[in-house]
Amino acid sequence: MKLNLNIANKKEWLVKEVPVIISGPCSVESEEQVLDTVQQITSNNRIDIIRGGIWKPRTRPNSFEGIGEVGLSWLKKAGEAVNLPVATEVANAEHVELCLKNNIDILWIGARTTVSPFAVQEIADALKGVDIPIFVKNPINPDLNLWIGALERLNAAGINRLGAIHRGFSSFDKSSYRNAPMWELPIELKILCPDLPIICDPSHIAGSRDLLYTVSQKALDLEMDGLMIESHFNPSIAKSDAEQQVSPDDLTIIINQLKVRTSGS
Ligand code: PEP
Ligand code: MN
Repeated sequence: MKLNLNIANKKEWLVKEVPVIISGPCSVESEEQVLDTVQQITSNNRIDIIRGGIWKPRTRPNSFEGIGEVGLSWLKKAGEAVNLPVATEVANAEHVELCLKNNIDILWIGARTTVSPFAVQEIADALKGVDIPIFVKNPINPDLNLWIGALERLNAAGINRLGAIHRGFSSFDKSSYRNAPMWELPIELKILCPDLPIICDPSHIAGSRDLLYTVSQKALDLEMDGLMIESHFNPSIAKSDAEQQVSPDDLTIIINQLKVRTSGS
C-alpha cells in the first residue's frame, strides 16, 4: 500500500541540502531572547528555518504556557533580521488566523494536537485556500494512522507543502530518552510515502542535551531529510525544556560532527 498524498516536490521547497536544519528556542520568551538566539545560531550559516513556540502545550498547568500573540511579531522580526523563514506551532483555528496575520512562514501541528482528529480538522478548515507549508509532528502515542490521518486532512484542505516531524512517542517504560524513538514508525511512513519530507526532532526524543548528537546522527543514518533542534542563547535560564535546549556554540559543534552517509556508503 502506498499513501496517496498530492504533495509538492520536497527538493523544490524544502530539501536543498541534507540535513535541513530547523532551530530556535522551545518557547519565544522575549523580543531580546529570540533575536539574540537567532542571531547567534545563524552565524554558522547552516540554519534553514527558525522555530519558536508561542502557545505551549504544557502537560500540567502553572508552568510557562507561552508568551502568546505578542510573540509572533518578535519571532517574525528575528527571522527577518537573519533573512530566514520562521515556524511555530498551531493548535486551533485562532492560532492559524493570528499566524497568517503576522506573516508566519511555516506552521506545525504539535504531538498533543495530532492525536485529535477534531482539532486537526479545525486547523485544516482554517487553512482552506491558504498556501503555506505545514509540518505534522507524530501523535504522542505510537499510532501511525493518526499521524497519516492528520497529513491526509491537511492535504484534502489543499495543503501540498507537507512534511512530517518525528519527535518520539510517550512510553510507560522509563529509559534514557524522554520519548521513545520507535524508529520503525517514521521508517514505515517513509516507505508508504517516499516523497514526504521527514524531519527528526532529537530534542523532544532525547530530553537532554547530551543525547542530541547520537539521536541526530541516527536520524541521518536512516536517511531522514532534516533535524529540528531546540536552541537558546542561555539554556540554563530557559522557561521551558531547559534540559534539552542547546547553546548556539554547542549547536554548531553538533552540526559539524554530523555525517551524511548516502546509500551504499
Ligand atoms: C515543541 O516543539 O516545543 C513541542 C511542544 O513539541 P511536541 O509537540 O513534540 O511535544
Ligand atoms: Mn520544547
